[in-house]
Amino acid sequence: MMSPNPDARLASAILTVDLDAIAANWRYLRDLARASGRPVDCGAVLKADGYGLGAPPIARRLFAEGCRHFFVAHPDEGAALRVAVPEAWICVLNGLPPGGDSDFVELGLVPALNDLAQVSAWRSSAQRFARPLDAVIHIDTGMNRLGLTAEEATLLVNDRMRLRGLRLALLMSHLVSSEKPADPVNREQLERFRTFVSRMPGAPASLANSSGVFLGTDFHFDLMRPGAALYGINPTPGAANPMRHVATLQARILQVRQIDAMTGVGYNHDWRSARPSRIAVVAVGYADGYLRSLGNRGEVVIGNHMARVVGRVSMDLITVDVTDLPPSSVQPGTFAEVIGPSQTADQVAEKARTNSYEILTSLGRRYHRAYAGVTP
Ligand SMILES: *Cc1c(COP(=O)(O)O)cnc(C)c1O
Repeated sequence: MMSPNPDARLASAILTVDLDAIAANWRYLRDLARASGRPVDCGAVLKADGYGLGAPPIARRLFAEGCRHFFVAHPDEGAALRVAVPEAWICVLNGLPPGGDSDFVELGLVPALNDLAQVSAWRSSAQRFARPLDAVIHIDTGMNRLGLTAEEATLLVNDRMRLRGLRLALLMSHLVSSEKPADPVNREQLERFRTFVSRMPGAPASLANSSGVFLGTDFHFDLMRPGAALYGINPTPGAANPMRHVATLQARILQVRQIDAMTGVGYNHDWRSARPSRIAVVAVGYADGYLRSLGNRGEVVIGNHMARVVGRVSMDLITVDVTDLPPSSVQPGTFAEVIGPSQTADQVAEKARTNSYEILTSLGRRYHRAYAGVTP
């Protein structure tokens, strides 16, 4: 798919992130919501370093596309993003940490206020800094994780003075089961959120993550918060993936060896050949986020052929059975595709018995990273 550029000559593995595809995915979601005729905005969730793909270049590209609302989990992720996109509105989902207010104000970070104590702390900051501060009110409509409880939400609705000095930038809640459209909890959360929003008139609202966008226009409100779908993860599991492919991981073949029948390969000889076999050793391992659960289950693509991982996943290496592949296609120095158009993160996740979010966010630090497409 890509020829390694000179910087990548020594790289054992290359992660290519297609920024054009991310931009296309963002526009696709925005236009899907705007097809209803309402002026719905589309933000972007870049927590965990843009789901492992590199938040700064992704943020710069999305900002150039017109994206203005960015969400991260940790305050220091917000600080890093502030450098990448100085003009952006950045919300920290994990909330306002005790004593964190000065840093938030200086960096222009907006905390998702997750309980009434945070609301009151942020309001004190607004008084102390003598300026209106943007606030996001996160209410819990069923997740039972972060956000104001139903009781706290009622207290807030009945006493708007608690928000004096703050500018209500967003009311938000998060869906429990959005990738399962038939789950009744989606509608229950929608109704709870609607009730809350109707009692806080004038403030923009946000409910939908990636899969939430596909639950229908009712779920769009004023601002959508997709993460996964931007990075190519299928937001509609069980149906065709409407998103473009984004992340490709290639790792070099280091060595090819011939072994006899009944020969063990790798740690603990967790696999034994049933026939004389050829084994390719590929430069990716659990230190690179190639999960150990892929031992004896994962596959890589070499040429146009699938080759199965045999034996355990080591720290830096996997071993794959290439007995049935044309020998000319399996040469030391050439690349095996670990994640890519022929085997998506969703498919790798299934083999690893996890979800594709974990596959992407586990991607290691030592890959050569290449950004394809327009980089602003
Ligand atoms: C991670 C997250 C999102 C994005 O979810 P995706 O399923 O990746 O689209 C949106 N909102 C909140 C509060 C989140 O934590």
